[in-house]
Amino acid sequence: MKFLKNWAWCQLSVILLGIKYMVISPLVLPFVPQGGVRAAGRAFTFFIFVNVRHERPFLRRIVYHEFRHVWQWQHHPMIYFRWMAHGINVPYHDRGFEKDARAFAKSLGKHGDLKAFYHIPK
Ligand SMILES: [Zn+2]
Repeated sequence: MKFLKNWAWCQLSVILLGIKYMVISPLVLPFVPQGGVRAAGRAFTFFIFVNVRHERPFLRRIVYHEFRHVWQWQHHPMIYFRWMAHGINVPYHDRGFEKDARAFAKSLGKHGDLKAFYHIPK
């Protein structure tokens, strides 16, 4: 029951975020494929994977974080793709799209870290 409630809560949150930030709302899939043990979420253009077994405050952070990646995809696809191409030499945690998503989640949508997102190392 908690699983279903959390899943529904995640999906509703993402729909509301999609309206607020003009994003085609992704579908929330309530599991994380092929992740490391600590992976809580994963984002693709129209899906986000969320481990919905987490507790609510942490779950909210995951939803905001993964939603931000979808926003990045839909609003700045070229920058996102450039990160994918150029980010190979940068540790994952330090990549601009990760910094931006973390800032967005931490502030619960008040702001991202667009400076880090736009700055792609040569
Ligand atoms: Zn991320």
